[in-house]
Amino acid sequence: MPRYIFCTGGVVSSVGKGVTAAAIGRILKARGLKVMIQKLDPYLNVDPGTMSPYQHGEVFVTSDGAETDLDLGHYERFTDENLDRNCNVTTGQIYNEVIAKERRGDYLGGTIQVVPHITNEIKRRVQMITQQHDVDVLLIEVGGTVGDIEGQPFLEAIRQLRIDVGREQSMYIHVTFLPYIGATGELKTKPTQHSVRELRSLGIQPQVIITRSDYPVTDDLCRKIALFCDVDREAVIPLETTDNLYKVPIILEDAGLGDYITKRLGLPTNKPALKEWRQMIKRMQQAEKPVKIAIVGKYVELHDAYMSVKEALLHAATHNDAKVEIEWLHSSELEKGRGFDVLESVNGIVVPGGFGERGIEGKIMAARFAREHQIPYLGLCLGMQVMCIEFARNVLGLEDANSSEFEMHTEHPVITLMPDQHGILNLGGTMRLGVYPCELKTGTVAAKAYQQERVDERHRHRFEFNNDYRERFEAAGMVFSGLSPDAHLVEIAEVGGHPFMLGSQFHPEFLSRPNRAHPLFAEFVRAALQYHPKGDSPDGS
Ligand code: GLN
Repeated sequence: MPRYIFCTGGVVSSVGKGVTAAAIGRILKARGLKVMIQKLDPYLNVDPGTMSPYQHGEVFVTSDGAETDLDLGHYERFTDENLDRNCNVTTGQIYNEVIAKERRGDYLGGTIQVVPHITNEIKRRVQMITQQHDVDVLLIEVGGTVGDIEGQPFLEAIRQLRIDVGREQSMYIHVTFLPYIGATGELKTKPTQHSVRELRSLGIQPQVIITRSDYPVTDDLCRKIALFCDVDREAVIPLETTDNLYKVPIILEDAGLGDYITKRLGLPTNKPALKEWRQMIKRMQQAEKPVKIAIVGKYVELHDAYMSVKEALLHAATHNDAKVEIEWLHSSELEKGRGFDVLESVNGIVVPGGFGERGIEGKIMAARFAREHQIPYLGLCLGMQVMCIEFARNVLGLEDANSSEFEMHTEHPVITLMPDQHGILNLGGTMRLGVYPCELKTGTVAAKAYQQERVDERHRHRFEFNNDYRERFEAAGMVFSGLSPDAHLVEIAEVGGHPFMLGSQFHPEFLSRPNRAHPLFAEFVRAALQYHPKGDSPDGS
């Protein structure tokens, strides 16, 4: 019988509830349990695919092509399980479904209400996961903070679910924050007490409280929280801010959370297999060799917008026993003639995915700089497209080459709309999304990195390389090292004669794992370590 763990958040948002849920997933998986994680997002959008990165951060893409919350990226990286579109539920999806049913007449003239119609649909989505998959534990994270108006139907649904699935088979974990008062030098528990009171007023009594804080939590404070919030002392788990997200499973495990959960839910109390995970963290901590990578994008002030890229670079650096230092560079800086000193100082340049015209010319400049200075370059989706535009303009001499995304009537649309994208009016969920196969050309940088002939990678794009230009590019030294099996779509391009200048139409960052760096990132970082920027001698002197 599957067990259900519901994670809620209190006091403030952005304290790492997603990472905490992901880490709980890892410590349970380490006990040999089959784990899945689902995120319930109370906002009204159907999915984050059409939301601005400023609002939402990165859009994570699952194998089956759903555009989801970035927390699913944490879940996949920590548990190493492939999640699917049912693992991210939003209020928008719930209402869409209920209203469509109402229009069809499914409710036979009944009045449609938040309770029970909306809450029933939420419950159906949760139980769909355990019906479709063979899981021992389903973790359900409720987005937002207790007290949010839009979160209420979700909290009511998870309150009812505990009764539906059985009290012994389920539990609530509440993640809160302990603010630090500088004047008196103490952490305060009152907001935690209030948020637990709020939860209780909705009929939910948490069994575990995880306290996030920027300072160490004393035993006295834990006792106080246990007493006021009516949880066991050993179920108050302090989680102090850490410099490395991947330490969180270890912190929770060492605080006894894994044992507490398994005991409480009547699961086997095996010893967790976390040796490899601990070694991985040690390796991350011991890596000293610096590798400086510039990420050239337009949301660089908001690192969450490039979450998976940032993590994939950390995984790849660890794989190479190096310590990554990211230089965030806004592409519009380059357009103003600034920031080239940053490009000069790094070991490698990444141009990540993106949409729209703003900042494009700066990204093209970054690609040119990388090509001309032989600096390792990794282009991700849009990053591959700008690499091709740059090559067309400055190697082939097609001065106004562009993508038709940015200049509809350009004379040389080297990047153009995919045929099945013509005439699409609805922007939500209509890109080429999810996993597609890619065949690699032997002897290329890509084939060497992957050590495979065929790979499956995740996509999210509307535009593609224009095949009318393939021969001209190849004649000038561009190698199309990855193609779709029917050879119609360019999936990977690399610049011949350059130590590493490669772009992929897909997003390799989504498949990178902390203990299994993605081959393209691993190879990119390896090349970056071999490149020595001006003023940086190979022996470090
Ligand atoms: N805007 C480009 C396209 O739609 C690239 C998309 C991306 O980088 N994810 O094809």
